[in-house]
Amino acid sequence: MGDNSHEHIENNSEYKGLKVNKGIPQPEIVNNESVQRFLTKKRKLLSVDEYVNGILKGDITLLSRAVTLVESSKPEHQKIAQQIIEKCLPHSGNSLRIGITGVPGVGKSTFIEALGKYLTGQGNKLAVLAIDPSSERSKGSILGDKTRMEDLSGDKNAYIRPSPSAGSLGGVARKTRETIVLCEAAGFSHIFIETVGVGQSETAVHSMTDFFLLLMLAGAGDELQGIKRGIMEMADLIAINKADGHNVDKAKMAKRQYENALHLFPAKESEWRPQVLTCSAATKKGIVDVWDKIEEHKKQTAQNGYFSRKRNQQAIFWMHETIQEQLKRDFYQNPFIKGKIAEMESSVLNNQMSSFVAAGELLKIHNENQKES
Ligand code: GDP
Repeated sequence: MGDNSHEHIENNSEYKGLKVNKGIPQPEIVNNESVQRFLTKKRKLLSVDEYVNGILKGDITLLSRAVTLVESSKPEHQKIAQQIIEKCLPHSGNSLRIGITGVPGVGKSTFIEALGKYLTGQGNKLAVLAIDPSSERSKGSILGDKTRMEDLSGDKNAYIRPSPSAGSLGGVARKTRETIVLCEAAGFSHIFIETVGVGQSETAVHSMTDFFLLLMLAGAGDELQGIKRGIMEMADLIAINKADGHNVDKAKMAKRQYENALHLFPAKESEWRPQVLTCSAATKKGIVDVWDKIEEHKKQTAQNGYFSRKRNQQAIFWMHETIQEQLKRDFYQNPFIKGKIAEMESSVLNNQMSSFVAAGELLKIHNENQKES
């Protein structure tokens, strides 16, 4: 300022009121050009053939980007995703799909890493997918923890994809099933689908896999582990994990208990008799035995025709699932329905209409207004 003609700056009428300082000029964004390039790169969609060719060459980056489209709820992404899936379908079906379930803490990720490293060590390509019912509800996921499966994450023969998180269980499961198609087209020979054995997601996993492995702990009752009877019934193999150190005897005892429990279940259509093994994902003891059983199951079911019969049944099941999901989505997204639903709900609550009549009315409105919606 350098002007000393006034005793004090505030004595000068020129300075009455507010004075706004000029401030420091905003510096240029560092690397502005590369930031822009990054942003446009993220948004740019490739052609369907570019994705498909990349996938068929086993390009993991393009596979990942295609899976992101499968998981997206944007109609323009879904449109491309469906075209990619269609072109990948003839190249799919060649993997062994294994469902792995168990309560949090049973050792699923440690087990998957141990078995996964064994498989990739033999030159196999393994994709690990997940269906995690917690990820939608809590926005935090039981299976999505980044520190899980560190060894496998760095393995060039492994591809790990956390659970898709948006939508209903049916929607999430459909996306996982579509991701299987893309992974198979990319040359993955083994696919693990992991889920937490506490809810309905096991049924979804069971409906898209060839083998269902249930991991259990010794010394905790079924009740304690939250494993429902129905889940045990689906299992082709129960592996009692953490059979190491002081736990070995307890694991052996649990093995006998589960063997007895399995005898009570009706025989499986596959003619496979579910078995119980003990293993330690931490020391890797028994991991290869688990794998041998999975291969034995594959051999037996391939011979008796169950393997392909089940795949066919699953394909039909998923066709119906997809129809149901789409019909439901169309219904609830129909603007005529959206505008009417609250009114119908209060009619039901006020006993002016039964649930069935209200449902019938809404369905009628939907059918009449489908074209406009
Ligand atoms: P997840 O929640 O089912 O995926 O379980 P994790 O794989 O994260 O394992 C939970 C905890 O159990 C971790 O502290 C693991 O180190 C430990 N764990 C996993 N497998 C074994 C095992 O075979 N033996 C022992 N002693 N600990 C294990």
